[in-house]
Amino acid sequence: MAEIIPIPAFADNYIWILRNDNLVAIVDPGDAAPVMAYLEREQIAPCAILATHHHGDHVGGNLALLARWQVPVFGPSREKIPGRTQAVAGGDRIVVPGIDATFDIIDVPGHTAGHIAYFGEFGGVPVLFCGDTLFTGGCGRLFEGTPSQMCASLSALKALPPETRVYCGHEYTLANLRFALAVEPGSAALKVRDAREQARRARGEPTVPSTMGEECATNPFLRAHLPGVKAAATAHAGHAVADDVASFAALREWKNQF
Ligand SMILES: [Zn+2]
Repeated sequence: MAEIIPIPAFADNYIWILRNDNLVAIVDPGDAAPVMAYLEREQIAPCAILATHHHGDHVGGNLALLARWQVPVFGPSREKIPGRTQAVAGGDRIVVPGIDATFDIIDVPGHTAGHIAYFGEFGGVPVLFCGDTLFTGGCGRLFEGTPSQMCASLSALKALPPETRVYCGHEYTLANLRFALAVEPGSAALKVRDAREQARRARGEPTVPSTMGEECATNPFLRAHLPGVKAAATAHAGHAVADDVASFAALREWKNQF
């Protein structure tokens, strides 16, 4: 049976375990300890590690895991990934050994310069592992890329099927939705989502994954091209936004201060 299990790490990271019976692949193991605790408890061994980008809270556990289990490490070709054995880039298709899953690599620069996302089918549903590019209800900060790059990256993800499950790297949903409500205070879909996610967090449950359809309907960073969102971005910036990228950049700037 195929399932995807969140391993919470640090304050708000999720390490994702793709499990197919007793075989698992690990996405973004920033910390080896909680992953090892899970593997020991379940008496299973990993068959691969997948990295989305080079930040320590996503790859910091690679070497400790590799010291114990020598498995292939997939990672972006344009970044330095500890222990990487398979350098991949947009357009590549990989088969993850053991769990028998196929993923297409999508280049999504913006948060970091070489950030990649993994898209494929697991357990009969389309799934996306997008690290710190698209968040549930928001998007990553632009540490190494431009607004124009991030817009293009988010557009590539928006084109995925609406039922795609979005597995991002952090539990940021409630803070993201607070910002989304400041941008689109009249959105009924947003209010419904916010109430549902608040209830989930109150029960101690993850709000990740969401679906791409829900992100397109409620995530302001995927809606920067819409007149209502542009008007809010303009009002906050105090000057007109010339195009979709300028609207996105104004939103990102607004969120940085929010
Ligand atoms: Zn990051």
